[in-house]
Amino acid sequence: SELKYKNIIDYSPIGIYQSGLNGEVIFANNRFAKILGYDSPDEVIKLNFMKDIYANPGIRDMLIDQIKNGNTRYELELHWKKKNGKKIWVRNTIRVNRDADGNILNFEGFIQDISLWKKYETELIKLSKAVEQSSAAIIITDPNGNIEYVNKSFTTITGYSFEEVRNKNPRILKSGKQNDAFYKNLWETILSRKDWKGELQNRRKNGELYWESSIITPITNEKGEIINFVAIKEDISEKKKMIKDLIEAKEKAEEMNRIKTVFFANMSHELRTPFVGIMGYAELLSEILTDPEAKEMADGILNTSIRLTDTLTKILDITQLEYKKIEANRALVNIKRVVEEIYARYIKAAERKNISFSRSINLDNNFIYTDENFLFGILSNLVSNAIKYTKEGSVKIETYKEVDNSKSKLIIRVSDTGIGIEEEKKELIWEEFRQGSEGTTRNYQGCGLGLSIAKKYTEIIGGKIYLESKYGSGSTFILEIPFD
Ligand code: ADP
Repeated sequence: SELKYKNIIDYSPIGIYQSGLNGEVIFANNRFAKILGYDSPDEVIKLNFMKDIYANPGIRDMLIDQIKNGNTRYELELHWKKKNGKKIWVRNTIRVNRDADGNILNFEGFIQDISLWKKYETELIKLSKAVEQSSAAIIITDPNGNIEYVNKSFTTITGYSFEEVRNKNPRILKSGKQNDAFYKNLWETILSRKDWKGELQNRRKNGELYWESSIITPITNEKGEIINFVAIKEDISEKKKMIKDLIEAKEKAEEMNRIKTVFFANMSHELRTPFVGIMGYAELLSEILTDPEAKEMADGILNTSIRLTDTLTKILDITQLEYKKIEANRALVNIKRVVEEIYARYIKAAERKNISFSRSINLDNNFIYTDENFLFGILSNLVSNAIKYTKEGSVKIETYKEVDNSKSKLIIRVSDTGIGIEEEKKELIWEEFRQGSEGTTRNYQGCGLGLSIAKKYTEIIGGKIYLESKYGSGSTFILEIPFD
């Protein structure tokens, strides 16, 4: 009979031991030795619980407390040390053996290694906390869609408590804003074991509509059967509203911009027309008047009118560039003729300021396939600026061909010895209505449109425009147009 019990104990799947009053191991079975990583019970018999097995000394006090309470049997979950020093979690059931007077004789214990359970338990706690505390609403239903669990955020978003929705179907949130086909597709998707993702409008307990973004995932068991559905939902009403407001604001801004553009275009046109008459008469007056003072006045009218029409033309140009899609009207253009015409148009202005104005054309082929009006527009803006921003010295137009990677391009450089452009203004001056002198005293007339127009025209004809300038000693604007 003893052999029978010995066998049972030896092959028991539970670690069994007996220990003395000072913590010495008196007996241990195979399983006990194995759990602690020892080869045999013989090896374990030499050990002492306090010294070799308990992972932290506090355990001893804990046990003494239990014993003082007079318990004869108790169960604890403890950290034990294995032979290799690694810690394990052990569920330890202890029986205190006492004599007839109640003095403790020894202890008997049963142990199970619960390290893996503990690990799962920690994982589980972590996951359930994540679900509980998630800012998204989480709903778990059974395969029929009856609610088994909702987290706190569900209550915050919908207004329904867990108790109110337990065993109910999430259709209590239905707003009627989605049609049957919508729900049919949803169910078909999740029943085919796929995730369903989408946005839908639901109704809170207080009747208010709200938008949610949802992911519904079917959970299957090892046989592939659906055992639950998990829905994760985020309230996106605010986000939706913000997007709607933004779209409306953008549309409004675009509409305002369109109105502004049309207004500018109309106004410039309306204002420009009368100037044709004013300028014509001023020129005529200047020719027929003999009194120098009166002649000067007529010239004054002419010059200010020219300036105004120039500004109006620029506004008209820029509004048209903004408003409609303007395309280049390409033809063979004689570059020499264009440069000569620009020269002729601005020589008087340069002479009036005592600036030397020159042009050079170094081309074997004077023709380029491009839009002549745009080329004119670009060059006249560059040259009029060069003269305007130069007090003394010279303005030069240089025209030549450059071959880059076997591609040839026309280069027109307009350089001056004028005021130059500050480094930090070099980007800004290409923008509409922006000027180098803004913020400081405006010493130069202008509306800040010339370079924007020149840049836009250059882009339409497939060219490049950029500048080189040293503040205080002049600027060079370079226009590049591919020959082919
Ligand atoms: P505007 O001349 O009417 O102000 P632009 O668009 O033609 O407008 O030029 C923008 C700005 O670029 C000017 O205000 C000026 O500060 C600067 N700028 C343009 N050309 C020159 C130049 N040749 N030399 C110095 N500054 C220039």
